Amino acid sequence: MNFLEERIMKDGVVKEGNVLKVDSFLNHQMDIHLLNEMGAEFKRRFADKQINKILTIEASGIGIACIAAQHFDVPVVFAKKSQSINLDGDMYVAEVESFTHKCKNHVIVAQKFLSPEDHVLLIDDFLANGCALQGLIQIVQSAGATVEGIGIAVEKGFQSGGRMIRNLGFQLESLAIVDGMDAATGEITFREQPQW
Ligand code: 5GP
Repeated sequence: MNFLEERIMKDGVVKEGNVLKVDSFLNHQMDIHLLNEMGAEFKRRFADKQINKILTIEASGIGIACIAAQHFDVPVVFAKKSQSINLDGDMYVAEVESFTHKCKNHVIVAQKFLSPEDHVLLIDDFLANGCALQGLIQIVQSAGATVEGIGIAVEKGFQSGGRMIRNLGFQLESLAIVDGMDAATGEITFREQPQW
């Protein structure tokens, strides 16, 4: 098991509705040593890519993205969520359905922060059905920029997002892939992965 899988086994909590809570170390309280190991691993996995920007989505992707960005030495842009927007032409906008809150948000990025020259790594904490990533991909494509890869902390492999994103041809690297989890017993199983 890698560092992240071990930590999920120790401190992750399986909730009803296919939700894994990792708020004691990943997306509420954040263990910066763990985030730093994860950032180093993302850098290793995307070592051959010329990445000049990281794009994530508020709120829980931001901490992971910022620490990863130190390993890539690039700026981070985060897409902002907003339920209603005035389209004033200066923003890239995508609609995203929230897995955890079961509502639709617009996600927006100011046009001045993404341009056709950008080679972007997308980072997020979780991948479930892939709606958040689809929104981010749409924003990068609207800007004429390039998605060089996608780094995810925890992919829930039993949901459809990972397959859909890989089928689109993106290099998707998830540091932990949960293949099954049971709210009644708390049991979590991981997909075999390269060690890091
Ligand atoms: P998707 O858009 O892929 O369906 O869901 C991804 C987004 O929903 C992530 O940005 C994450 O914030 C949230 N999410 C999805 N599944 C979980 C989960 O099991 N636990 C937590 N904490 N967040 C999740």
